[in-house]
Amino acid sequence: MNRIGFIGLGIMGKPMAKNLLDAGYELTVFDLFKTPVDELVAMGAGRGESNADVAAQSDIVITMVPDSPQVKDAVLGKGGVLEGAKKGMILIDMSSINPLASQEVCAKVEEAGCCMIDAPVSGGEPKAIDGTLAVMVGGKAQVFEKVLPILNVMGGSVILCGDIGAGNTTKLVNQVIVASNIAILSEALVLGKKAGVKPEAMIDAIHTGLAGSAVMEAKAPMMMDRNFKPGFRIKLHIKDLNNALSTGHEVGASLPMTATVMGMMQWLKSEGLDGEDHSALVKYYETLAGANVRR
Ligand code: NAD
Repeated sequence: MNRIGFIGLGIMGKPMAKNLLDAGYELTVFDLFKTPVDELVAMGAGRGESNADVAAQSDIVITMVPDSPQVKDAVLGKGGVLEGAKKGMILIDMSSINPLASQEVCAKVEEAGCCMIDAPVSGGEPKAIDGTLAVMVGGKAQVFEKVLPILNVMGGSVILCGDIGAGNTTKLVNQVIVASNIAILSEALVLGKKAGVKPEAMIDAIHTGLAGSAVMEAKAPMMMDRNFKPGFRIKLHIKDLNNALSTGHEVGASLPMTATVMGMMQWLKSEGLDGEDHSALVKYYETLAGANVRR
């Protein structure tokens, strides 16, 4: 079970695939873009000609693409994983998608005699590079046990949260918490700046107290340095909040704070800023207040 296929070599997938290569796994890779494939091939990976070709050469296939439609396309579509898969192949979808889509794709994968787990991640590009991502898994325990050594190469913590879809439900919970954290950090920093206090002094004073957070440590410096290079793009966070809101509707959970932050992110999108890091949420508040939180 050591031949791994890796599909989707973007901000996250490329360093994750590299870590698997460094750990000694035999890897075949594919992406719609040629450049990252060339880079991985130069490091020793095999070149897949399509998603089906990757699956034909692999016992385990990992997908790391943007959202539910891309996972469905890569796995179930023309030239997709299921066209090349042999019975018993395990699909590990590490993309952050709608939990119901995970369940739909899993049903088709199982019809084809294969297995699937959903295993979205948190931690962003730095932790993808370090191999210390938080991995949230949904699926059957016996499949999880088989792929755990592989997930441990990419993850610092790997937790089985429940049956198929539970990984993505947990990821949505994570994304809801992160979005509202960034929004309230922005709201508070703009308040302080407008009231005449230096943002760096405020962060210095409060970051070790109850208001401190991983979001504050990672995102406040980006806001103060005006560095909005992604990281995690606003458009991907819009995608996650959209999946959270639709899951909320499906299960009957009300998400008023998520809906509010989604409104702010939609404003950023209308301003053409949705390719920036999600710390650019601060620009929403800065525009309303006519002040910025530059150091
Ligand atoms: P990305 O846009 O940088 O990369 C996605 C890659 O998938 C692209 O290279 C694209 O060409 C490829 N792709 C799309 N459709 C494909 C298909 N049908 N077949 C083959 N390749 C295809 O995105 P990313 O930032 O790497 O994020 C990937 C996933 O990880 C998303 O679901 C995202 O929400 C999640 N995620 C991202 C971060 C982050 O900080 N960037 C953190 C945690 C989770």
